[in-house]
Amino acid sequence: MIELRDLYQEVILDHNRSPRNFHIMEDATASAEGYNPLCGDKLSLYLKVDNRTIADISFVGCGCAISTASASLMTESLKGKTVEEAVELFEKFHSLLTEENALPDNLGKLAALSGVRTFPSRVKCATLAWHTLQAALSHSSQTVSTE
Ligand code: ZN
Repeated sequence: MIELRDLYQEVILDHNRSPRNFHIMEDATASAEGYNPLCGDKLSLYLKVDNRTIADISFVGCGCAISTASASLMTESLKGKTVEEAVELFEKFHSLLTEENALPDNLGKLAALSGVRTFPSRVKCATLAWHTLQAALSHSSQTVSTE
């Protein structure tokens, strides 16, 4: 398992160093702000939803390596997915981070964040982008807070 942990570590470092889809989207159809006061992570999420499909997704913000890598991995795995698939993926991802024996079924690179499970205080860093996504999808204009 050491090798797997190293690989996961590498994915997180890579996505923190060069986050994917890291830009403002001028023609977004939905957006939301997220804030995790526990760690100070902040992000703005932009979505272009077309016919219940996430045609494009991007974010900007500043935060710890976990929150940035998680947002980057999320945008990468949600592009082209339907809104329903995105909600389903969040449920699976959330179980992976909070349930001891959850397996990373069909989660792809998102599985790299499974190690966060052993650091409960960091779970909010890893789920911030996803909570912000939920807010954007429900057209809430308020800033979501993990608290
Ligand atoms: Zn954080």
